[in-house]
Parts: sequence; C-alpha cells; structure tokens
Amino acid sequence: MTLTETILAQRSDNALINLRRADELWLALKEGKIDTPSVVSQSSDCLGDLNTDIVICGGTLGILLGAALQQLGWRVSLIERGILKGREQEWNISRDELETFIELNLLTPEELENAIATEYNPARVGFSENKDIWVTDVLNIGVDPVYLLDKLKQKFLQAGGKLLENTVFQSATVHPDGVEITAGEEIIKARLLIDAMGHFSPIIKQARKGTKPEAVCIVVGSCAEGYSQNDTGDLIYSFTPIINNCQYFWEAFPAKDGRTTYMFSYLDANPKRPSLEYFMEEYLRLLPEYQKVDLEQLEFKRFLFGFFPAYKNSPIKLPFDRILPVGDSAGGQSPVSFGGFGAMVRHLQRLTNGDDSSLNAETLELKDLA
Ligand SMILES: Cc1cc2nc3c(=O)[nH]c(=O)nc-3n(C[C@H](O)[C@H](O)[C@H](O)COP(=O)(O)OP(=O)(O)OC[C@H]3O[C@@H](n4cnc5c(N)ncnc54)[C@H](O)[C@@H]3O)c2cc1C
Repeated sequence: MTLTETILAQRSDNALINLRRADELWLALKEGKIDTPSVVSQSSDCLGDLNTDIVICGGTLGILLGAALQQLGWRVSLIERGILKGREQEWNISRDELETFIELNLLTPEELENAIATEYNPARVGFSENKDIWVTDVLNIGVDPVYLLDKLKQKFLQAGGKLLENTVFQSATVHPDGVEITAGEEIIKARLLIDAMGHFSPIIKQARKGTKPEAVCIVVGSCAEGYSQNDTGDLIYSFTPIINNCQYFWEAFPAKDGRTTYMFSYLDANPKRPSLEYFMEEYLRLLPEYQKVDLEQLEFKRFLFGFFPAYKNSPIKLPFDRILPVGDSAGGQSPVSFGGFGAMVRHLQRLTNGDDSSLNAETLELKDLA
C-alpha cells in the first residue's frame, strides 16, 4: 500500500475517492478527451422585453461581482447549480487587497475583520541552498470563504438580488438586444450574461473548441494539526532538484484548523505526465523533510488537490456579444500559485466599474467586453 492509500483511504471524507475522481478529469484532459458542448447560439431576432439586467452563472466568485453590481442598482440574477457557500479551507491574500470590499461597500470594516480567519508574519521565499528571503504582509491573511460568501449572499439578497440555487445553467441564445438563458425550469432574458462557472464552464469549453491548455499547475496538500512550528509561512519554497521533469515548489500557511501546506508543480498536459495520486504520494514522501515533522505526529483535517489549466489565450475573449467570463472561467489567475480568489479581488473594482459603464452606455458587443 502506498502512503496515499494508507492515509487517505481511512478517512470519512472520501478523500481517496475524490482524488481519483479528480484524476479521471486530469487523465481526460491529458488524453485530449475534452467535450465541446454547444450551449451558446445566436439569433438575429430581437427579444423585446427583458426581465433582468444581468445573469451571473456560478456562485463562488460570481457572488463578489453579483453583490457589487446589485448594490449599484442593477437587477442581478445569480444561478448556482449547488448551494452558494464557501469552502472550509481559507483563501490566502494580502490585507491591502481586501480594502476593495470596503471601497465597494460590500463589507463594513468590522465584517472584513470577521472574514479574516488568520494573519501571520513573516513569510519565506527560498530556493535550494540559496539564502532564504523573509517578507512581511504578502499573502499573510487567510480569509474564511464560508463567512465571506455568506455575508455577500446576505448583502446581495438584501439589495434585491435574485438567487437561484440548485439550478443548472443549460444554454444561452444571444440576440441583438439581450441574451436568453435557460437554467433548470427558468428562462431569463437579460442584457448581459456573466460566466463565473470556473475552469470547466460549458461556455468556455465551447469557445476553446477542445484545445488542450499549454500548461497546467498541479496542487496537492493538506491542512493538519501537530506541527511544532506554525508561526511563519512560505510563499514559495523549493528544496528538491527536478524530479521526473517537475520542479516542485511549496507554500505553507498557519490556518484556522492547523497548518496548510501545498506542493505545486507546472507541467504540460502530455499523456505521460503523472497523476494527481502520484503527486500526493510525492507530497507525503517529502512533507517530513520539508516541515521537519513525522507523518504520525500529524492529525490531518483535510486533503486538498486540484489542477489549474493555463491557456496562452487568457483571459479568454469570447466570440459572442453580451457574455463576459470572470474568475477561473476567464483564466484570471495569479502567476505563481494560480490563486484565483486573489486575482478576482484584484480586478473587482475594474470589473464592477467596467460592467457598470458598459450597461449604462449599452456597449455590450464582444469588442466592448474584450
Ligand atoms: C487546493 C486549492 C487551494 C487554493 N488556494 C487559493 C488561495 O489560497 N488563494 C486564492 O486566491 N485562490 C486559491 N485557490 C483558487 C480558488 O479556489 C479558485 O480560483 C476559485 O475558487 C475560483 O472560483 P470560480 O468561482 O471562478 O470557479 P469555481 O470555484 O470553480 O466555482 C464555479 C462555480 O460555478 C458553479 N457552476 C459550475 N457549473 C455550473 C452550471 N452549469 N450551472 C450553474 N452553476 C455552475 C459551481 O457549482 C461553482 O460554485 C485554490 C484552489 C485550490 C484547488
């Protein structure tokens, strides 16, 4: 039995099953088995009466923009296939960047403090035998996604936003004067559709026409208790040579539930590239050396893993009028760890103001949105 099988299989949260499910998606991507749904069509007929201004599909980062636009007085409907809520694991970001939530009137200073689950200093940057560099106030804040998204959901609803949970986006037809969206039983006619359905958005799959990403960033990690040292973090730390064509780099953050450690690597999507389960095994093999800890000492709270496709053509410009991708679906990412929450927060003012101007001026053609 591998370390991964031994440690993940005994958990009640189906960590091994979920890891293998994610691996099936990663394998399909490597093998170029990427479905290209046909969910967006175009019509030259006018829609006439519209029942809302904006439809946002996807509620994770979509609610950030949804709450901001609803506060400005636009009528926003948000469609989420599950329940709109944040994940247990914190998002790491820098404090200054969070001011946006106050500037956009999305959170009060007190609510922003409540959204901050952890704060630490300093953080290390280090490569192999070179001297470590220590920095302060960079990605040293852990935001609680559960609290943040719950607060934004409340603000959105209080401002009159319409939330459709357990509702799956199915298709959209772009007309000269609006876009008609079918989601579950609902048919909504809006001026603008914002796609916040993540990396595997059906709209993006259609637009990318089954092309493979030029690169992928793999991440595996955990949040665990039992580390003797948990006051500092690592922004980027690398201590191994290239292994199997991969340069591993690590991040570590003090967390609400212990300490989060991630191992990342960049690769292309060649079918020969290793599985997520292989990387998890590498993570568990190297974690004791990295954090000077025995695995038996650790009480794992959760395992974390994923892969971020990275296309040269990012942020993607869709070939349709009236549809704007944001967040992971757009390919809006941070350069090192692909932290898409941070990237979205950095662009939230610009996206809010841009959408507001476009709606006011009725400049919603693809050249305007690009
Ligand atoms: C292990 C790990 C650690 C990370 N850590 C950080 C970090 O510290 N800092 C940071 O900035 N970022 C981090 N990220 C990245 C961050 O989590 C993502 O960038 C962010 O979740 C992207 O949000 P999104 O809303 O664009 O996409 P998603 O999170 O993929 O959300 C898409 C939403 O759309 C909904 N949806 C999908 N299809 C449909 C449909 N057909 N109809 C209706 N709804 C639909 C989904 O249910 C979901 O709610 C991390 C990611 C991982 C995997």
